[in-house]
Amino acid sequence: MKILIAKTAGFCMGVRRAVEMVMVSPDEKRQPVYTFGPLIHNPQVLSLLEEKGIRALTEIPEHGSGTVLIRAHGVPPEIKSRLKTAGFEVIDATCPRVIKVQTIIRKHAKKGFAAIILGDRDHPEVTGLLGYAGEKGVVVGSLEELEALPAFDQAIIVAQTTQNTQLFDSVKRWAVDKHPHYKIFDTICDSTERRQAEVQRLAGEVDAVVVVGGLHSGNTRRLTEIAAESGKPAYHIETEDDLDQIELKEISANRLIGITAGASTPNWVIKRVYRALEAMRFKKARGWHRLLFTLQRTLLLTNIYVSIGAGCLCFACSKLLGIEKDIYVIISMLYVQSMHTLNHLTGGQSDRFNDPGRALFYDKHQTALTALAVISGAAGLMLAYTTGPVPFLVLLVMSLLGLTYNLRIIPGFLLADRYRRLRDIPGSKTFLIALAWGTVTTLFPYLSVTGTLQIGTVLVFLWATGLVFVRTAFFDTLDMQGDRIVGKETIPILLGEKPTLRLLKRVLLAVLAGMLLSTLLGLVGSVGYALTVCPMFLAGILLAYEKDVMIPGIRLEFLLESHFLVAGAAALLWTVTG
Ligand code: SF4
Repeated sequence: MKILIAKTAGFCMGVRRAVEMVMVSPDEKRQPVYTFGPLIHNPQVLSLLEEKGIRALTEIPEHGSGTVLIRAHGVPPEIKSRLKTAGFEVIDATCPRVIKVQTIIRKHAKKGFAAIILGDRDHPEVTGLLGYAGEKGVVVGSLEELEALPAFDQAIIVAQTTQNTQLFDSVKRWAVDKHPHYKIFDTICDSTERRQAEVQRLAGEVDAVVVVGGLHSGNTRRLTEIAAESGKPAYHIETEDDLDQIELKEISANRLIGITAGASTPNWVIKRVYRALEAMRFKKARGWHRLLFTLQRTLLLTNIYVSIGAGCLCFACSKLLGIEKDIYVIISMLYVQSMHTLNHLTGGQSDRFNDPGRALFYDKHQTALTALAVISGAAGLMLAYTTGPVPFLVLLVMSLLGLTYNLRIIPGFLLADRYRRLRDIPGSKTFLIALAWGTVTTLFPYLSVTGTLQIGTVLVFLWATGLVFVRTAFFDTLDMQGDRIVGKETIPILLGEKPTLRLLKRVLLAVLAGMLLSTLLGLVGSVGYALTVCPMFLAGILLAYEKDVMIPGIRLEFLLESHFLVAGAAALLWTVTG
């Protein structure tokens, strides 16, 4: 079974904007903070919002206090006034495209036009639009209902922003034919049009389509209808748990499955469905395929693979710097094993969204993983001690810094309360991980052996740090929505996905050019020529991701972590053959 994910799947601009606005509200707005109705139909997001003290307001009390955020769907104008009269501060997160439709209706209502709204009568967006139409607003859900309406002297026709484009086309044809004096406004959002056009295309290419989104979400239902019109099986599911109930299990291993999702479906829900299908694919597979999948997943979850990667990187750096002692390779592995495991154990809140399988694994094996982290950390320190007291102290300080990453150690008087932990400092995770790896794989071995610092050491440190920076920031781009929900300010969240990918490509170019130049100038060992393969390997993964050749999942993660092994293998081959 192969899986394709639609490019348009997931949050639309309006929903993403509303989620971002509500996430910053607890820090910036009057408390308590409410959303007017549930922000999106995702139970995990809603429970996280509740944990942050953000609840959904369903009734407007006579007197209230705090802040109320209006969702992307918008509300009738009187709701806004009632909220203000009750004493709430109102943040209007109505999508700008919905505001445009509201404005069209309001402007024409003032001139006496009737407003015919093509949409779902009970949908909050339609309720909001109706509120701008005054007495002369009507909602129709089909061509039949439209035909049953009385003729108006003057009327406008608009559509709910997520309506079916084909239905609206037939409404337009009907109006031009029967009531040419009606004014028609094509108010279907272009994001909806693109999403519907893509699902139509996708359904043509695959053997079955899985549409992910709330069962009550109109736009998700429409996507399912469009997919089903192709004659292929189309399944509307809310979460990966629903996969068990559909006949997908019957689909043979060599078929193609397409995934798309509604406008309010978070990325991590799509990702979880993808992962579940991926796991289903390997459950079906026999022999080494299945074994390989299980092995890859286990190595990634336990951080053993990333720790082997750290060892390989340290080996490559040692060869560049002419260090012959292999003990530092082991120390690097133990340090990374310990720190990565501890940080997942203490700060895995975003894993609940980005990788629930990992969160579950950490919950289930908490004791064993804690033991693994403590033993590897202690073993690393003991080995460092055998090389001398100074390396031991350096590694101890690095370990303590790593341990305190998720703890509130910054005094409140120095920075605002939201920046009390190192991880709260915007972008800190990516930089600190890169610096820690660069230090343990390069500076630490070189300083321990020679006690001096050379220009070549700094160049190798920058090379290793650059590669780890790209690897970590790229992982962050895959986890953006989950990180945003839990308030993590990673580099992609600060810069945006595309600018981050551009930045990473530039870093890789600098890393490649730097290594080539350092080797040509003889500042590092000749193995540097072989190690130019690493930034090229990473750039290949980035490009494959951008072109949708690679989709987030186990394979992509495994390949990404493998570039450190490529570094180790290249260094070993060069040494053996050179
Ligand atoms: S579907 Fe379009 S109009 Fe509706 S909230 Fe999303 S971006 Fe806005």
